[in-house]
Amino acid sequence: MEFETIIGLEVHAQMLTDTKIFCNCSTKFGGAPNSHTCPVCLGMPGVLPVLNKKVVEYAMMMALATNCTINPSNSFARKNYFYPDLPKGYQISQYAYPLAEHGYVWIDMDGKQKKIGITRIHMEEDAGKLIHDENNPFSYVDLNRTGVPLIEIVGEPDIRSPEEAAEYLKRLHEILVYLEICDGNMEEGSFRCDANVSIRPVGQKEFGTRTELKNMNSFRNVQRALEYEVKRQQYLVENGESIIQETRLWDDAQGATNSMRSKEEAHDYRYFPDPDLVKVVVDEDWITQIRESLPELPVAKRERFIREYQIPAYDAGVLTADKALALYYEDVVRLCGKPKQASNWVMGDVLRFLNEGKRDIRQCPISARSLADMINLIEEGTISGKMAKDIVEDMYHTGKPPQDIIREKGLVQITDEGELTETIKAIIDAHPVQLADYRGGREKLFGFFVGQVMKATQGKANPQLVNNLLKKMLAP
Ligand code: ADP
Ligand code: MG
Ligand code: ZN
Repeated sequence: MEFETIIGLEVHAQMLTDTKIFCNCSTKFGGAPNSHTCPVCLGMPGVLPVLNKKVVEYAMMMALATNCTINPSNSFARKNYFYPDLPKGYQISQYAYPLAEHGYVWIDMDGKQKKIGITRIHMEEDAGKLIHDENNPFSYVDLNRTGVPLIEIVGEPDIRSPEEAAEYLKRLHEILVYLEICDGNMEEGSFRCDANVSIRPVGQKEFGTRTELKNMNSFRNVQRALEYEVKRQQYLVENGESIIQETRLWDDAQGATNSMRSKEEAHDYRYFPDPDLVKVVVDEDWITQIRESLPELPVAKRERFIREYQIPAYDAGVLTADKALALYYEDVVRLCGKPKQASNWVMGDVLRFLNEGKRDIRQCPISARSLADMINLIEEGTISGKMAKDIVEDMYHTGKPPQDIIREKGLVQITDEGELTETIKAIIDAHPVQLADYRGGREKLFGFFVGQVMKATQGKANPQLVNNLLKKMLAP
């Protein structure tokens, strides 16, 4: 039997505000346990939450960036459940009236564009953290994270493979980081994803029973968990067993998902409107103001790079995957005026050094100015492309501008025709056999002579000049 995979993702992103969503406690990661708390986020009786306006604005930014419609009037609800990391006994979230709905993003699968729907984006508060100690019979409660603002992005079940799921997640992540409303750190949990997955025989209309996967802390693991789960479900169906709707935890070491709990239904949470918070009213002016404040988004930047710099789509994709890298590239282009050369050096050597050193472009020892200067030095013929390869490596390790390295190492390219003619003459004289063979038709020997000249000049000869001179001097 042939199966089709159906996937829908729920993404939680922590908003980069200074203070929590309903009180003015700090959102900073770390800190002594329970030091970032107050009566509001500790859930003391008699206190009142006050909505942080910044959270609404950040959520609106994401909503607009993902083509959602913002509800002019939206409101908060209480999601009730008991757990020690939730001091109030309920989480303040949005339910019947979310901030935004009906959005979408485009993903690119091997050059084919596919639209993935976004059901809704809503605001909510995070819960605290439980710390379990293997050597003690009790657990510790840290409420620093309680009340930290989150948005939840609920995706439509439009995804048809684990690769598409990873692609979709990368797009959302990229947008959030570009907007500078989320740091995107998956390991620390500022960007997390629950993946819902089901299978159905090809041709069947209704969806199959889904499972919900949690605990994947990288794009790669989301994909792996889904791949595992699809196989597991297929195996069950093929063996006449049924799939249980449940939440399953991904175990990275095991490379498998394990049942955690049976799936709760919305009615289990006894949702009801939060009487402590007023409605969130969003007027057209506010939406316009937020829309106008949006920075250039990844897709638009990519298209502009292709158009404005005439670089291949592939280059534009690599260069815009990271906003800081895109900025660096644009600086280099502005300073040297050579977009394709700039892209080659940034995507090639610079990114390779950064990857090897596990560094971010923001920590790159080669300034945009230095790289631009080096590109100009090649264009002007001061150094050859081959020499530049070594120079750029020195630049990375020392942080020095190319001019200093060239001076210190005496690396200036030989562009003096007279000097090169002398060198070539000596080489031709020393290789009469090769000369005769070349003139007799063995054109491959041209490369041999180029090699000899480069050897004699320690690679400093201007390659173009060497070519021209050799052509002339080797001719019968
Ligand atoms: P809940 O809030 O209980 O998790 P929702 O109905 O809001 O349930 O759906 C959550 C996510 O599950 C959505 O992203 C949706 O796309 C996805 N989803 C719903 N049904 C299926 C299904 N049969 N297979 C895969 N994903 C599904
Ligand atoms: Mg869910
Ligand atoms: Zn507080």
